[in-house]
Amino acid sequence: MGKSLNDVRADFPILNQQVNDESLVYLDNAATTQKPKAVVEALEHYYYHDNANVHRGVHTLAERATEKFEAAREKVRAFINARSTKEILFTRGTTTSLNWIAASYGEATIQAGDEIVISYMEHHSNLVPWQQLALRKHATLKYIKMAADGTLDMNDAKQQITAKTKIVAIAQVSNVLGVVNPVKALAKLAHQNGAVMIVDGAQSLPHMPVDVQQLDCDFLAFSGHKMLGPTGIGVLYAKEAILTEMPPIEYGGEMIDFVNLFDSSWTELPWKFEAGTPNIAGAIGLGAAIDYLNQFGMAAIHEHEQRLVNYVLPKLLAIDGLTVYGPHDPAKHTGVIAFNLDDLHPHDLATGLDMEGVAVRAGHHCAQPLMKYLNVPATARASFYLYNTKADADRLVAAIIATKEFFK
Ligand code: PLP
Repeated sequence: MGKSLNDVRADFPILNQQVNDESLVYLDNAATTQKPKAVVEALEHYYYHDNANVHRGVHTLAERATEKFEAAREKVRAFINARSTKEILFTRGTTTSLNWIAASYGEATIQAGDEIVISYMEHHSNLVPWQQLALRKHATLKYIKMAADGTLDMNDAKQQITAKTKIVAIAQVSNVLGVVNPVKALAKLAHQNGAVMIVDGAQSLPHMPVDVQQLDCDFLAFSGHKMLGPTGIGVLYAKEAILTEMPPIEYGGEMIDFVNLFDSSWTELPWKFEAGTPNIAGAIGLGAAIDYLNQFGMAAIHEHEQRLVNYVLPKLLAIDGLTVYGPHDPAKHTGVIAFNLDDLHPHDLATGLDMEGVAVRAGHHCAQPLMKYLNVPATARASFYLYNTKADADRLVAAIIATKEFFK
């Protein structure tokens, strides 16, 4: 704590540029975030001073690289309050983490007739692995509905999660509707029915305090690049008792104990799951991103973003012809805001905003079933982060109005 969120922009040189003759307003943070100097410098320092392969060498550089890599794992552990670093696996990102669960835990435990419960608002990364697992195993995939305002319908959740349920997999924050899902209550419901709770934390970890012991989730997946870290690094958290039972996903170097000609045994957690040379620099960069976020504290970052939502959401709702998806109550909406303007195609809308220097996303946001549920082909989406300001929010509103005028 200590450092103020008022003067963070100087830490992100990329934000200080002109796009289409306007100063850049970057509002595509749900897709990926910008990197502070501290993260880029950590990568540079690693490659200039410490680069070596981890866990195998006895020379000084190898020891230093291993120390930094494992120190990053400890930073991740503390960040989510896991009990042990044995519960922290480095992956390529949320997508890989979720696929690992399906490929290992899912393959080993799901049987014909079992049920897997997800929601209509899931990102494809938390949908397709379960859909394909269900197809392979002749299990049933069930979807929890949304209430009229776009929040998860907990009454429906109680109907869908039954004694047949083996897996409940839900995003803590939707990457389209911007809602926060009650994953703690869902974990309780899952456990009462003998199922495990998997949390897709891609859009929550970067923006709010998350404590796996408090949530009592069994698995949590998230991506480094959405929380100021590098691309190609992510995390799979799972309870130690589950990981101990789970079979390895990939085989090869680093993950073995002994290899004989016709059988092998596996090393301890967490390395049993990390076959091959890992993304060492990525993990160190993620550790630097966590240090950066910790200077402010996740509660302060969350408050900052909620202040921006309180400010911008009523202004967006007041624009004639603008449809905002998800709840209209700022208290229920995070800094991920999806919208459409009249019958303008969202790509035209995003191009119009880009002409004003405002970067937003347009498309189905890897959530085609949700688009179908909302009965829209696509939406535009603005997403805020710690370096965004009220001035950025004003620029978004002005750019939407200017685009509306342009296409009139
Ligand atoms: N889940 C959610 C909710 C997301 O928003 C995203 C990325 O947009 C993902 C999963 C996939 O993350 P990645 O592409 O980093 O694996």
